[in-house]
Amino acid sequence: MEELIIILIILLLILCCGLQIIIEIIVCISIWNMIFKKPEIPQYCCICFENEICKKLICGHIIGEKCIEEWTEISNSCPLCRKVI
Ligand SMILES: [Zn+2]
Ligand SMILES: [Zn+2]
Repeated sequence: MEELIIILIILLLILCCGLQIIIEIIVCISIWNMIFKKPEIPQYCCICFENEICKKLICGHIIGEKCIEEWTEISNSCPLCRKVI
């Protein structure tokens, strides 16, 4: 239903103002989206490759909190590059 109204409004705008204004609106919306909608980058754990709450280690590797907790019980180095953390 909402889509139908939007289409009708767009058709009315085309009839009244021409195609130029539509293009301008579309450009404005896309610029707005680019500025205000920050893309959410999912963080994937480097060990289990699951999307979880991750920590960035000093070495730059991203590892899930659960995995790093288990790992730090065994070792105090990064499980990927063996840098001390
Ligand atoms: Zn993990
Ligand atoms: Zn590392």
